[in-house]
Amino acid sequence: MIDSYGRNINYLRISVTDLCNLRCRYCMPEEGITKIQYNEILRLEEIYELAKTFVSLGVNKIRITGGEPLIRKGILNLIENIGKLEGIKDFAMTTNGILLKKYAKDLKSAGLNRVNVSLDTLDAKKYYDITKVGSHKDVLEGIEEAKRVGLTPIKLNTVLVGGFNDTEIEDFVNLTKNEEIDVRFIELMPIGQAKDWSLDKFISNKTVLEKVKELKEITKEDVSSPANYYKLPNGKGRVGLINPISCKFCTNCNRVRLTADGKVKPCLHSNDEIDLRSALRNGEDVKKIILNLIKNKPKEHNLEDGEYIKRNMIAIGG
Ligand code: SAM
Ligand code: SF4
Repeated sequence: MIDSYGRNINYLRISVTDLCNLRCRYCMPEEGITKIQYNEILRLEEIYELAKTFVSLGVNKIRITGGEPLIRKGILNLIENIGKLEGIKDFAMTTNGILLKKYAKDLKSAGLNRVNVSLDTLDAKKYYDITKVGSHKDVLEGIEEAKRVGLTPIKLNTVLVGGFNDTEIEDFVNLTKNEEIDVRFIELMPIGQAKDWSLDKFISNKTVLEKVKELKEITKEDVSSPANYYKLPNGKGRVGLINPISCKFCTNCNRVRLTADGKVKPCLHSNDEIDLRSALRNGEDVKKIILNLIKNKPKEHNLEDGEYIKRNMIAIGG
């Protein structure tokens, strides 16, 4: 699907739930979120139907996310069904890793290619502090299991939080010395729980380059990736820097997002949403609606300076 700016939109990110088994301080309120009504959440068959339609129109890359995708009942079935769709070249999941040890093998057998795991600290106590409930050990074991069954290459997503994990930057970077793993530092966005956080928590990921001078930028293999990649001399893995707010990659943007309640967000940094759930349930021509929304995908984010999206990450999936 080619949009009005000549971009080939071939990447669909699907949030399968807005619920989570963790309470990361910047993302999820301690008491959880107001649950979307059960009948407003897409059923698994509906997610599959929409994925199939997107694939028939040219999408060849799908990422499953959430909330925490592994807590959605029936997730393996969905993965298996989507994995069988002809034309998918890259099928990935973003997870907090807590349930990965349990599911990795089945996810691989069901057709998933790889996982991105979110991990903001290498310290077990600090992990509990930032997630409020999570066990660091579970995530590490999940990552090991994912490696063992071949859900690779694995990417670690680390949100940089000033005064929390900036002292661990070198340790994270050093993980790329001997392993083919990508460590990606993501700048914290002032949305969700982080909306009212003090400015000192928002640190630029340039800090990574200031702290680890040996990192050298490498040529981008995938121009549509929001990450700029660097390597240590002789490092096996890569270090990625992602600034989700800057619009540097808009010209190469290839993605749209489907929320758990069936809305398509043509651009992360826009409040525009198109309701595919109602369209599907009312028997409307979903293909036509998708082609139209692709045609109208914004050139770049259309919010004013200092204005941020209303939904938080838990509803969009990152
Ligand atoms: N639960 C899964 C996980 O944590 O990987 C998938 C969903 S989570 C919303 C996706 C990503 O969004 C995670 O890497 C998380 O750290 C990131 N995220 C959540 N809130 C954020 C914020 N305010 N700024 C930057 N990244 C955020
Ligand atoms: Fe859950 Fe992921 Fe949000 Fe953490 S970042 S609360 S794991 S959805």
